[in-house]
Amino acid sequence: MTRTTPPRPLDIEQIFPELAAHRATSTRLHPRPGAPKPHDSSIGGPLLWPADEPWPTCQHAHPRSRGRRVPDVYRERAMLREAENLAPGTGFSEEDRALLAGLREEHQVSDVGETAPVPLLPVAQFFTKGVPGLEAPRGTDLVQVLWCPFDGHGPQGTVAVDVRWRDSSRCGQVLATPPLPEVVGFDGYVPEPCAIAPEQVVEHEYIELLDADLQERIEEWEMRLEEEAEDDDEGLLSYQGDLSIAPGWKVGGFAAWNVTGPAEITCSCGSPMRLFLTIATYEWGGIVSSWTPLEDRRTPAPQDNKHPTAVLPGRDGALNVFACATDPRHEHLLVPQ
Ligand SMILES: [Zn+2]
Ligand SMILES: [Zn+2]
Repeated sequence: MTRTTPPRPLDIEQIFPELAAHRATSTRLHPRPGAPKPHDSSIGGPLLWPADEPWPTCQHAHPRSRGRRVPDVYRERAMLREAENLAPGTGFSEEDRALLAGLREEHQVSDVGETAPVPLLPVAQFFTKGVPGLEAPRGTDLVQVLWCPFDGHGPQGTVAVDVRWRDSSRCGQVLATPPLPEVVGFDGYVPEPCAIAPEQVVEHEYIELLDADLQERIEEWEMRLEEEAEDDDEGLLSYQGDLSIAPGWKVGGFAAWNVTGPAEITCSCGSPMRLFLTIATYEWGGIVSSWTPLEDRRTPAPQDNKHPTAVLPGRDGALNVFACATDPRHEHLLVPQ
């Protein structure tokens, strides 16, 4: 599987050469539903987890006894996918509809209290050999990201992630059946197993983090484009939409701050923090955008591939995971957008 981002519609550095100083490379991950194995880089796939290492759990105080069952979430999605392939006009049978209603039900599990350990759910794992730009601490070549499938952590009451770096050659026997939480607080925290097709792309800094003067000139340039456009012109170019930050799941690069505006973030050790991972709802905006990979413009329809992981961080935006620039094993910072 390969995914190819088309070249940017124009070279913005030719118009604003100062942007060369605000350029970074990010690695788009291009997840697509698949059947990844523990030795593959994946999103929502099985982790290469040592059989003799305890599975991580969340013991942070928050409600955890009500929600949907993980197998029900997968089954419902499979039924909806199958339905898409039926002949037009063919709907669900009454039996299917009853089954779907059952799968969508929330369940109350035995009252476990507010701090009983909840097994974390795998979100992603990346091997350095398959993901260019993934900077691993010395002696490690694999990063694993898990999260608690309930809200209620941290000052913003959101999810909590657990990031583990390891040396994959020292894994030994792989844990065959990781524990699953009995229920999850939100089905948008259950990633669909996806293979990935990493691709490096060039990005430019988020507009509000550029010097005020440059920002102003870019905005004036965008306004001129708008004035020159014909009324029926579709898909006007913009710095934010097409020329700065790639949408979708990615490693590294720049963070978009489109919801909260930029914030300066520092690790508790005093080092600056850098964008490590973007967990995104959509791989691109609209039906097709300038970021839609060439391969997805053909078959079967572009919108089928724009929400491959079924994850809804920040309820349908993105979750930016920042890591310490000195040591990525220091505590991460989550910024929903
Ligand atoms: Zn939790
Ligand atoms: Zn630090």
